[in-house]
Amino acid sequence: MNIFLYDNWERSLRQFTPMRQDWVGLYCCGPTVYDYAHIGNLRTYLFEDILRRTLEFNGHSVRHVMNITDVGHLLSDADEGEDKMERQSRRRGESAWVIAQRYTQAFMEDLGQLNIEPPVIWCKATEHIPEQIAFVQTLEEKGYTYITGDGVYFDTSKQDDYGYLARLDKEGLAAGARVALGEKRNITDFALWKFSPPGEVRQMEWDSPWGVGFPGWHIECSAMASKYLEPWFDIHCGGEDHLAVHHTNEIAQNKACHGTRLANFWMHGYFLQLDQEKMSKSSGEFLRLQYLIDRGIDPLAYRYLCLTAHYRGHLNFAWEPLQAAQTALERLRKHFHAWPPGGTADPEYIARFTELINQDLNTPRALALVWELVKSGVPDGDKKATLAVLDKVLGLRLSEWQPASQDAIPADILELVSRREQCRADKNWSESDRLRKEIEARGFAIADRPEGAQVSRS
Ligand code: AMP
Ligand code: ZN
Repeated sequence: MNIFLYDNWERSLRQFTPMRQDWVGLYCCGPTVYDYAHIGNLRTYLFEDILRRTLEFNGHSVRHVMNITDVGHLLSDADEGEDKMERQSRRRGESAWVIAQRYTQAFMEDLGQLNIEPPVIWCKATEHIPEQIAFVQTLEEKGYTYITGDGVYFDTSKQDDYGYLARLDKEGLAAGARVALGEKRNITDFALWKFSPPGEVRQMEWDSPWGVGFPGWHIECSAMASKYLEPWFDIHCGGEDHLAVHHTNEIAQNKACHGTRLANFWMHGYFLQLDQEKMSKSSGEFLRLQYLIDRGIDPLAYRYLCLTAHYRGHLNFAWEPLQAAQTALERLRKHFHAWPPGGTADPEYIARFTELINQDLNTPRALALVWELVKSGVPDGDKKATLAVLDKVLGLRLSEWQPASQDAIPADILELVSRREQCRADKNWSESDRLRKEIEARGFAIADRPEGAQVSRS
């Protein structure tokens, strides 16, 4: 079945056709690891996960690459201000490397809790400095760079179509910002390599042909995406805030260096908002996944909540819809658990689901279809088999869920139950009766159901 995705380069839905036979290249801008990820960031990674799972559902093997920005992301998008990592280090009195390590680990744990498939390739900016220097050297050889007192800059006036992705109003920007120009030739020019401030030794700095310093944030992604996926691959993703600056600049670099716009499709997740404002790490006003967990929310209920909204629309965070998502997920789990195994997936529901998800990841309608299936006259066993297939994309871990009382059953009791099951299968009724009495004497009840024995505390 065809897949249609919304491409922000063309600003339209386009049919997705992979560039290569053996893999689909997917690059997702990763976290800047100076702090925990907030649930807004995680919404973007959830959208990317649904995209990856949809591609896999359609039989593609996805080479999913994600970077870790552990250097070079400055406080302002205009290449000014401190490096976020170094600032956090100064504030906390800890090394920037320790901070990067801690928040990278925490980020990976968040992805695990949300059942987001880990990328096939993780790449850290600090481990790819030679690749970034080589990229800047090529840009220099091709005449796209100039040097100022604080770094090597990309001259955006050399590209007629600079800013096309974001449909930038270049004249308007230039007119509005003459004073702020400093040594930059054009307001949209950006740093490729920044020099360490004079008289200051940064924790993260490297030697380069231009002097000691560190890479610009945009060159990190261009260099690593080109390395792991080649300079022309299928899909590049990030949050909507990346359209105007970060992705625009990645494209400018790749056009100059390789003549490509890096990716065939440019896809963006829209923001999670708090009181109609963007949730942001730098403002300090943000909610972590752990904050939700501490308030009794299952991380997968947050995943469910994100599925109820299309990725190309803002989602306003509120506790009530999150609670409703948790209740809906609980209901779905209980249905799934109660249905007997051994059924066959219903081809009509699978086809309808595929059509919805292949239409630019229409998760709200795909969820509505799930509830239609639950209420339908499809035999229960077939419902279970169908939903198990759909859950490959939804990622709600329905097959893994057990009711809480089951969780509390000690392992030795479960062992007795399974020995009894074996006796019943062997028609060894006396031993199976003896085991039942032993289980009951230990305070548990056992019910024989068509799908197997169910044990609970009596
Ligand atoms: P950062 O760690 O700040 O580099 O951001 C990581 C990812 O989260 C990027 O793809 C951002 O575009 C995205 N992002 C940032 N804020 C939000 C938000 N409030 N809602 C959704 N995505 C966001
Ligand atoms: Zn990036």
